[in-house]
Formats: sequence, C-alpha cells, structure tokens
Amino acid sequence: MQTTASNQIEDLVAADRILAAHEIVDAYGHVSVRSERNPQRYFMSRALAPELVTAEDILEYDLAGNVVGSSAAGLFLERFIHGEVYKARPDVNAVVHCHTPSLIPYGATDVPLRPIFGLAGFIAEGIPVFEIRKTAGMTDLLIRDPARGRALAQTLGDKPAALMRGHGAVVVGASIPLVVGRCVYLDLNARVQAQAMSLSKHVTYLTPEEGKLSVADDYRRAWELWRRKGGAG
Ligand SMILES: [Zn+2]
Repeated sequence: MQTTASNQIEDLVAADRILAAHEIVDAYGHVSVRSERNPQRYFMSRALAPELVTAEDILEYDLAGNVVGSSAAGLFLERFIHGEVYKARPDVNAVVHCHTPSLIPYGATDVPLRPIFGLAGFIAEGIPVFEIRKTAGMTDLLIRDPARGRALAQTLGDKPAALMRGHGAVVVGASIPLVVGRCVYLDLNARVQAQAMSLSKHVTYLTPEEGKLSVADDYRRAWELWRRKGGAG
C-alpha cells in the first residue's frame, strides 16, 4: 500500500496528541517522521506544545534543520536532534525528544534503566546516557546546534533510546507506532522499576534473551487503540 505524505502527516499529528495524552511530553518535547518521498527530509511541527498541533502546523525540514520553503513560524531550538539522528541511523524513520519526569532519575544516577516486563523488552538492548559536559562543557543542556546533535546521535549508537542527563531522552524507531509505543513503555517501565526497587534490593529483570523474545511487534494494536481514543487530529 502506497503511503502518501498526507497519511504521514495525519499519523504525525496523532503521535503528537497521543504522546501528550500519555504525559510523555508536556508543553515541551517533539516528534518527527522521515519523509517517505525524500529520506533527506523530515516532517515536524513548528515550535508548539504537542497537544495543540494540527496538520497546518507541520513543516518540512532538511537534515541540517532548515525549513523547506518559506515559513515565518518559530522553530524548535532542539530540532538538530532529529536531523543528526536521521543522518546517523538510516534504519530510523521516527524520532521523539521528551523531558518525561520518570526517566530523569535514570540519567542522573548510577541506576540503569532495565526491562522489568515484556512490553518494555527492548530496554534489554541497553539505554545509554548522554553526558553533554563531555563534548560541550558547561551549557544550558539543550541540543542547540548540529555538533551537539551529532554527539547525542553518537551516544545513541544503534540503540532504541538514549537518556540525556539532566534533561530527558531521545527515542527512535522504524515507524511512528513503534517510536510512540517505545515512549509509552519506556516511561511505564521507569515507574514500575522504581516501585520494584523501593520494595526490594532483589529485583528480577528480563534477560537480554527474554527481552529479544518479548519484542514481538511494533505496538500496532496499541497504536490503533490510542488513535481511536483521541489521538486522531
Ligand atoms: Zn529538550
């Protein structure tokens, strides 16, 4: 089935709403999708709270973070995250940047995020932590330029997500449903893991093999549910 740019934009607007509904993003944070017509470009909204995004707010960007065509709209300061990840990861077609509170402790302590239930089995691949001081010294922690975006993409490597110390996370996937599902279950795993750790020092996590066996699909069933529950814009 041929997917058109308008389908991609509908899915992107739905992703914005769904991520807001799940409190993965609040006033801040953003989601993008690589253009199916031109892999050197991606779609993302103008600078706007994700919950408010409509199809009219979506802009097309090149991988350097420039808007294609003319636009007077304000742009996300941290749009370089998206272009640099798309450059480094040909397998990635959707990127989320978020400041989800449940994830912050795992970027700020020596406690790693580990998979505690099957739907978060992808965490078994490892979730690296980006330390911006290593490449940029003292900053406001924001990915304000391509060099910082490249350093973040390097820390991400071939993993499904990276935490950003004192800031948030970048989550990636081959499709919008996959990246949204990963965000929802990364957040849930972070909260459930903290609960388990408060109960006992002895928590049994999924092994890498169990993680791999658990990652069965791309959260398509969840995506259809979330879209119907109000994600559709
Ligand atoms: Zn940010």
